[in-house]
Amino acid sequence: MLQLRLASRNVSRVGRTTTTALKLASWNSVRGYAAQSDQYDVVVIGGGPGGYVAAIKAAQLGLRTACIEKRGALGGTCLNVGCIPSKAMLNNSHLYHQAKHDFAKRGIDVLKTFTKASVKLNLPKMLEAKDQAVSTLTKGIEFLFKQNKVDYIKGAGSFVSPTRIAVQLNEGGQTEIDATNVIIATGSEVAPFPGGSIQIDEKQIVSSTGALELQKVPEKMVVIGGGIIGLEMGSVWSRLGAEVTVVEFLGGIGGAGIDEEVAKQFQRLLQKQGLKFKLNTKVINAEKKDGKVFLKAESAKGGKAETLAADVVLVAVGRRPFVEGLNLEAAGVELDNKGRIVIDDQFTTSQKNIRCIGDVTFGPMLAHKAEEEGIAAVEYIKHGHGHVNYAAIPSVVYTHPEVAWVGKTEQELKADGVSYNVGKFSFSANSRAKTNLDTEGFVKFLTEKETDKILGIHIIGPNAGEMIAEGVLAMEYGASAEDVARTTHAHPTLSEAFKEAAMAAFSKPIHM
Ligand SMILES: Cc1cc2nc3c(=O)[nH]c(=O)nc-3n(C[C@H](O)[C@H](O)[C@H](O)COP(=O)(O)OP(=O)(O)OC[C@H]3O[C@@H](n4cnc5c(N)ncnc54)[C@H](O)[C@@H]3O)c2cc1C
Repeated sequence: MLQLRLASRNVSRVGRTTTTALKLASWNSVRGYAAQSDQYDVVVIGGGPGGYVAAIKAAQLGLRTACIEKRGALGGTCLNVGCIPSKAMLNNSHLYHQAKHDFAKRGIDVLKTFTKASVKLNLPKMLEAKDQAVSTLTKGIEFLFKQNKVDYIKGAGSFVSPTRIAVQLNEGGQTEIDATNVIIATGSEVAPFPGGSIQIDEKQIVSSTGALELQKVPEKMVVIGGGIIGLEMGSVWSRLGAEVTVVEFLGGIGGAGIDEEVAKQFQRLLQKQGLKFKLNTKVINAEKKDGKVFLKAESAKGGKAETLAADVVLVAVGRRPFVEGLNLEAAGVELDNKGRIVIDDQFTTSQKNIRCIGDVTFGPMLAHKAEEEGIAAVEYIKHGHGHVNYAAIPSVVYTHPEVAWVGKTEQELKADGVSYNVGKFSFSANSRAKTNLDTEGFVKFLTEKETDKILGIHIIGPNAGEMIAEGVLAMEYGASAEDVARTTHAHPTLSEAFKEAAMAAFSKPIHM
């Protein structure tokens, strides 16, 4: 039951005191596209890619649905401080870098005027374009909520019982709602530096959120962590003129799940672009002095310490599940020892009417994984069955060139003792890549030796993030490399490199 905690629930809503009037204002905005019933079939806590997709799907399936979001905007981490703003900055910084370093060889001369540089960065404008992308998309979700009749409740949700949720409204006041089913989709937050020896201030020592808001290009930037977020944000600021050094504890970059051969090539290409890497290196602490940050670092195996000076340090050591304020005890929902909400294979928590999806539970912290889970969790509620294929979830690094993969890596197949074939095709032999003067990278197929079934696909190259969709589809349908190789791909496209890599896996490529 959606109800405001008015002084008395029985009094008329006319002529209230100021406090009550405020609460009524909240009530009206909460009820913007009002529910007609007191009881919700589904209440989703969290309006990120997992939560908002679940809410829309639930409403589409005829379930009376509300989504509680405290941020003041829908779309969660992804739209507000993650996927979308980072891709806006990656796209526009790439264009800037191309205009500066790449246009001339394509026959585009940017004319110099007087003594001024021919291509000039307008950082405030670039940040504004990013903010514009974010606000358009977050408002778009509000529109979808209206269209699908999802009640959007702006506030922080907290369990009173497994079926009752209190909401501290953003506009002030509190409300409580009842739900037959609850979906927790509260996502994740930036993981602090281990041991607490480095404190994020979002100015000099920033998380990914602060790195999307820097008002000035730092002269020197140190990125702690060579995973996807560190490399993407490092690339942005390197293209805009910063000297970027990435410090990584492990012996390779790209984070979990990347194929080692791809990771090595990736590092070489980023180095060519000017990024520096310190692998097998552990950052110990940071000291702020004279407007700079001094990081103490040593070999991961121990040894002589060194000091790295930076204007800005980006701490990109991962994210952790976010459950603060949910009062999970009242719901009887359990966490594991990593702070993730424990679920079974139907997304059900330790409380059977409460399900959980996205970053706050197991699996890769990816927006599309959260979305798939959102749909599947709702289908379990409505139909008793749903589906997410965890063996076919793609990962993409949106640098240039892009890196994308799905399925097993070569090192995983080796460790599992699987007999496999490798089919590789280089973009330097692809006509479209050559035409575009963008030939770095390759496509790599890994197939089961006996059956030719595709086990993994790894791409480093232009548009890898789009191309991987074909690989995901192939794996979803249990395709062989021959299936892909016998499929017509338009000429001249980069996707021909994909086909040729499939040919290389089961027979021979034509153009290499
Ligand atoms: C810089 C960066 C770049 C990224 N790039 C990509 C990318 O390119 N591709 C990709 O797939 N993934 C990317 N990610 C990861 C992606 O953002 C997350 O995997 C995704 O947002 C997870 O979705 P979610 O719905 O589980 O949680 P979230 O998006 O974190 O959403 C959870 C929402 O719940 C709300 N909430 C929490 N507690 C409460 C409460 N008690 N009451 C009400 N609301 C609450 C929060 O305010 C939040 O809005 C990126 C992340 C970052 C930080």
